Amino acid sequence: MESLVDGYLRHIMDNVRPDRSGHVADYIPELARVDPEGYALSLCVHDGHTYSLGDSATSFTIQSVSKPLTYAMALHRHGPEAVDAKIGVEPSGEAFNEISVDDRRRPKNPMINAGAIFAASMLLPSRRDVDEADIDAAFTQILEFYSGCAGRRLEMDADVYASEKATGSRNRAIAYMLDSFGALETSPDAALDLYFRQCSIRVTTEDLAGIGATIANGGENPRTGRVMFSHEIAQRVLSVMTTCGMYDGAGDWVTSVGLPAKSGVGGGILAVLPGQLGIGVYSPRLDEHGNSVRGVETCEHLSRDLGLHMFNVT
Ligand code: GLU
Repeated sequence: MESLVDGYLRHIMDNVRPDRSGHVADYIPELARVDPEGYALSLCVHDGHTYSLGDSATSFTIQSVSKPLTYAMALHRHGPEAVDAKIGVEPSGEAFNEISVDDRRRPKNPMINAGAIFAASMLLPSRRDVDEADIDAAFTQILEFYSGCAGRRLEMDADVYASEKATGSRNRAIAYMLDSFGALETSPDAALDLYFRQCSIRVTTEDLAGIGATIANGGENPRTGRVMFSHEIAQRVLSVMTTCGMYDGAGDWVTSVGLPAKSGVGGGILAVLPGQLGIGVYSPRLDEHGNSVRGVETCEHLSRDLGLHMFNVT
């Protein structure tokens, strides 16, 4: 028999499913080809138990939902001061791929592409002549870290990676701009290569819920008990997700949902209720900000019904 929680989640999904507004990302053929009807929801609670409904076996590329994770890795490796010297923590209010920096010529935050490409560069050796083997080694660490947070072995989609790399002119412009400021210690191409690979990792909503629960739990995966990062890093990551995680729709999101979150153009949203819950939602049609339409709506329902808004005073 269906549990109470499953029944409730199914009810939300039945309410949201008829919304077919928005458009699937089409800047590369692999994303344009996905089934626009795909829809899945997973919740991972503090003891690691996961509730999943809909197409939760369908995998999709993580895309920008990778950004908080690579930022966590950069913080772990270099410490907050060294990272703050290079990447700001101010919301930009601009599109994710805006070619902009602050008055110290730092990317404004790690959730926009400039900051995410910079964070990826900080996982490479600090020298200009980084080679393929160095990028492979850094990517192995990324895959290992993301997998540890998700609680299962993840893999990269080689076709998406090849397409991202072939079409990434704007990201290339961003990386070369950062390089022109003398900010990057590695070559811009190596940073981009690593960034394109991290965006091409395939996940399910169960993986996103597991990653969310790991952040909610202060860095310890509640399914495996593995400690992936410190409480301080979890707090920092949650802070930037709150202020900058939903592209230039961050203000609307905080008002209506009120949970730290990160979305990606693959259609995934990761949301976190600190101390309690990781939420993964997938539906590939995106709104004008690049956020999953049904994903946002689903989280609005959850937040409203369960009183999850972080400023809930009732
Ligand atoms: N690979 C995409 C890019 O950097 C990710 C975009 C996103 O999910 O926001 O352009």
